[in-house]
Order: sequence, then structure tokens, then C-alpha cells
Amino acid sequence: MTKYDNLINGEWVSFGNYNDNVNPSDTNDVIGSYSYGDADSVAHAVEAAQAARDSWANSTPQARHDLLDAVGNALAARSSEFGALLAREEGKTLAEGVGETMRASQVFKFFAGEALRVAGELQTSVRPDIDVEITREPVGIVGLITPWNFPIAIPAWKIAPALAYGNCVILKPADLTPACAHVIATLLHENGCPAGVFNLVMGRGSTVGEAIVTHPDIDAISFTGSVGTGHHIAEVCGKMQKKVQLEMGGKNPMVVLDDADLSVAVSACLNGTFFSTGQRCTASSRLIVQEGIHDAFVAELSKQMQALKVGDARDPDTQIGPVVDEKQLKSNLEYIELARKEAGEVIGGERLELDAPGFYQAPALFLGTDNSMRINREEIFGPCGSVLKVADLEEAISVANDTDFGLSAGICTTSLKSARTFKRRAEAGMVMVNLPTAGVDYHVPFGGRKGSSFGPREQGRYAVEFYTTVKTSYVFAG
Ligand code: NAD
Repeated sequence: MTKYDNLINGEWVSFGNYNDNVNPSDTNDVIGSYSYGDADSVAHAVEAAQAARDSWANSTPQARHDLLDAVGNALAARSSEFGALLAREEGKTLAEGVGETMRASQVFKFFAGEALRVAGELQTSVRPDIDVEITREPVGIVGLITPWNFPIAIPAWKIAPALAYGNCVILKPADLTPACAHVIATLLHENGCPAGVFNLVMGRGSTVGEAIVTHPDIDAISFTGSVGTGHHIAEVCGKMQKKVQLEMGGKNPMVVLDDADLSVAVSACLNGTFFSTGQRCTASSRLIVQEGIHDAFVAELSKQMQALKVGDARDPDTQIGPVVDEKQLKSNLEYIELARKEAGEVIGGERLELDAPGFYQAPALFLGTDNSMRINREEIFGPCGSVLKVADLEEAISVANDTDFGLSAGICTTSLKSARTFKRRAEAGMVMVNLPTAGVDYHVPFGGRKGSSFGPREQGRYAVEFYTTVKTSYVFAG
């Protein structure tokens, strides 16, 4: 069994406490054993980052560009290998694993370019002979805490801007998916990241995560994960006056109007609801369907959903991989049981026993639901979708916005007028027209409103807001 250690101060460090990383497609397959740290490990990483922070903050944009570009190139060159590892560790299909690795590569290369484009402003003062200069500086040491569902892309879209803008990093990946984070740490190390600039501390949220959030010398926290953990982190950061950015859950609506192209709508909903085993914060979980197209839509979507091949993530024919672990599968099955009580009808949703022992579930569609039901208010985070029948666009918008969340919202329609109305009135950070609610570009902002997000947006040029702080300087020329 290969053992994997933590990266601190440019060295691989073992804290003992090795934890097996198990393949959800086949629990007999153990990927490796990963050393989990504790509060002392975080303190050690912070010391290393403190020693490195001034020289990294003052490094040339070219040096930062070159490091990020090299990591981006390495991810692309080995995307089949890392995509297969991702599929083995998290349960995404091979194609999704390779696609996500390529996304991580693109993110690194995008921020390699952004490192060269850190702009400021020069203004004339309201007073004579004085210039006012507005510049951006790194925040300092940032703690990055990531979830298991995008185990290579989410660390990438936090690490790359953090380093591009001159910050030192302490990354704590989800305890279920340390292998993908270890890949990024290895690539940064192999491509010359200076000691202490990037540190990987693996471990549990309650120990390592908590120690990162509460450490007085960590200046900012970027977190992606569940609402409960996010609220706790916001509270601690608020008291400590730490900069904080939270990306949390979703209960994303997809509206299908009578005038929609049926095949476009079904394919957007099939993808948005069930692909990646529904384990996407942007998944379409509430399908809000106008009454005229309702029956045809449900007939076609349920037919295509039942034809999806659920299987081992490493099998190229698999369309839906396993659920990430037993705990998540149990939670999905409890929601499906609840749907059997709340909804008019449930199609699919059984636990599946395949050749290898794994966490397999048939995708599920809940029919005859309304927006007050728990299945439509709480994030399930599995391959499950609810259908809600509505009379018209007005009712569709009101149901779509009636949620605690506001990450992504979609509409399928051939009416420019309806699309425009929805785009303007959807209470969400991202709006999709004739596209799945999930699936975004890497060079534009990502994030939501209401309970889904807090703090500045991630990704694209907007990432500069979180990873830098602004300084205003006044100069009297004499
Ligand atoms: P989670 O909140 O359980 O864990 C996320 C991370 O926080 C993990 O690394 C975990 O170890 C850590 N953590 C747990 N307790 C902590 C604590 N007390 N202090 C500090 N860190 C702690 O979430 P998860 O189950 O890994 O991920 C699934 C959730 O993530 C879903 O709710 C999903 O919607 C959300 N998500 C959101 C986005 C987005 O961008 N909006 C993207 C992906 C996933």
C-alpha cells in the first residue's frame, strides 16, 4: 500500500495517522493511505507560510506566471492518468474525470495570464499637486478548504488565483478525496514552487479544518462545502475579522416552458440532474414544467433516465458512476423514501448491487411534487430530480425563486421574450438558457446569491477581489 504525506515547507511530511482512500466503485480497491494531520500540523504549515510570504508577495509576475503555466501544462499532459485517478477516487465517470482535470489545467493557465495583469489605478487628487494611486496587494496567508465533489477543479480554482496574486496557501482537501489534491501538490512541488508558498495538510474538518479557520495568522479563508459548515466558518471568521468566501449548496430550478424544444429540454435536464451522479452544487434538482409540455417531457425524460448505464466509474461505457460513499448513499435513499411519502410517484431510485461492492444507485425522478415538500427545499446531492407542474411563466418564476438558495437557474424556451424575462428575474448567481444548470466556463465569475454563497465571487477576473486587498497611496510631488 503506497503511503502519501503532506507538503509543508517544500518537504513531504508524515504525521502518521494513515487513512485508507477507498474506491466507491469497488470498496475492495484501496487507492493509497494518506497521512492526516492535526492542529499542530496546521501550525507547522503556517510557520512555513509566514517565512515565505514576503518573498512570494514580492516575486515577479513572470515567476508566478511560469509556475502556474507549468502546472497547467502538466495537468493537461497527464489528463488521462489524473482523470482516471479522479474517477477511481470520487466515482465520476472517466470522461467526467478527464474533463475535470482539463478544467483544472485551464484554470491554472488562465491565472498564469492573470498574474501578468494585476492592474491598479492612478487618480488625480481633489487637492493640488497630489497623485492618488490605488494598488492591489496579496491578502497574505490563505486557508483553502475544499469538498469532495470536484476534487481537482475546486482546489485548482482556489490555489491558482491565490498564488497568482502573491498569497501563500494552506490547502485542506476533503477527507474523502485527498489523492487529487496530492496530485496538485506534487505538480506544484515538482515545478519549483518555493518552500512554504504552497502547503498541503490533509485531515478531518473537525481538526485540520477547524485549526485553519481559527489560526490567528491565516488572513483569509475560501471554503466550498455544505451550508452548515459554511455558516460555522463565517461566524468564526466574522469574530476574527478574517476575509471569508463561502460557496455552498443549491436547489437549482430548471424551467421548461410549453414552447421549449423537447429534445433540448430533456437533454439539458438529463445532464443537469443526473450526470456526475447528481453530486454537483449546480445540479438541476427542481424541474419546473409548464402543463402543456409536462406529460411529453416526463415520458421522454424518464425513458432516457432509465436507459442511463449506472456502473463502475472506470468502465468507459458507464454514464452514471457510484455515489461517493455509504453515508451519502444512505442520505439519498432516505430522501427517496421521503419522496415515496411526499410525491405522487417515484420512478427509479433503488440501491443497485453490481459485480463489485460499491455505492450504486439508480437515478430517481419524483413526479407530482410541490415546492413546499422537503424534497424540494433541502439539497439532496444525489442523482434525484423533482418535477413541479406550473401553469405559466409567472408561476414558474415564482416557484424557481421560492428557495433559500440562489446558485444557478435555467430555462428551456424558444421565446426570446420569456428567456429575457427569466434571465432578469431569476434570483441566482448564474442563469442558463437552453443549457443545463450545471456546466460553466472557467474564465468568468462563478457563485450564487442568498444561502448559496457569501463574499466575493470565485473564478475569472473577479477572483482578484478576494485574493487581494486594495491600498490607496497619496504622493505630494512638492
Ligand atoms: P462539507 O461541508 O462536509 O465539507 C467541506 C470541507 O469542509 C471538507 O474539506 C471538510 O473536511 C471541511 N470541514 C468540515 N467541518 C469543518 C469545520 N468545522 N471547519 C473547517 N472545515 C471543515 O461538504 P462536502 O460534503 O465535502 O461537500 C458537499 C457540499 O458542498 C454540498 O452541500 C455542495 O452543494 C457543496 N458544494 C458547493 C459548491 C459551490 O461552489 N457552491 C461546489 C461544490 C460543492
